Amino acid sequence: MNNYNINILVVEDDHRISRFICYTLSQEGYKYKSAGNAQNALGILVSEQMDLMLLDLGLPDFDGMEVIKKVREWSEIPIIVISARDQDKEKAAALDLGADDFLTKPFSTTELMARIRVAMRHMKMNASINKNPILSTGDLKIDLEKHLVFLSNHELRVTPMEYNLLALFLKNIGKVLTTGYIIQEIWGKGYGNDTQALRTLMTGLRRKIEYNPAKPKYIITEIGVGYRMKDY
Ligand code: CA
Repeated sequence: MNNYNINILVVEDDHRISRFICYTLSQEGYKYKSAGNAQNALGILVSEQMDLMLLDLGLPDFDGMEVIKKVREWSEIPIIVISARDQDKEKAAALDLGADDFLTKPFSTTELMARIRVAMRHMKMNASINKNPILSTGDLKIDLEKHLVFLSNHELRVTPMEYNLLALFLKNIGKVLTTGYIIQEIWGKGYGNDTQALRTLMTGLRRKIEYNPAKPKYIITEIGVGYRMKDY
């Protein structure tokens, strides 16, 4: 899919930011539609084929969170949330509601493009994951069929929990995963929010996959939100 076939919905009530985003998208060859409030955004989504949504959380009519909830009732469209810097709790909540990623204002053109590429790549990967059970980033590789992990082509010994955690990240390369989401995926619903258990597991995994666990290259901490597997 080249950029000319990708239709992006920009939902933002700040005209300056909206213009900046739309201009950037057109420069990069993306098609776009813009909406200044939630109602217009939902109207466009139901009537037109859109491939991705950039969503500001603070909209004049509905809260952006409500928009995510509504859209997720019937659509899997990737949603990248745009939020202000001091809204860590909101970011995590938006991701847990089904948003795919977030951008913090002010953001650069490079960041915007990187997030869009990750979201589009992830859509394609979801569609092909059954055909290709080997996922990788940098020197790190996982074989989902054989349950093996490799670092620089050397097999790594990991515990079953570490394997599950790593597989979760490699299936979501480039995407931020919230602490709550990770705990639910690894330990199951009803486990509550035991972030200490996750921290312990993460420390063990980082010791094995990171050259310098104090300065992780692969799994980056997104403060106040969760973690992100870097895309190399
Ligand atoms: Ca706003």
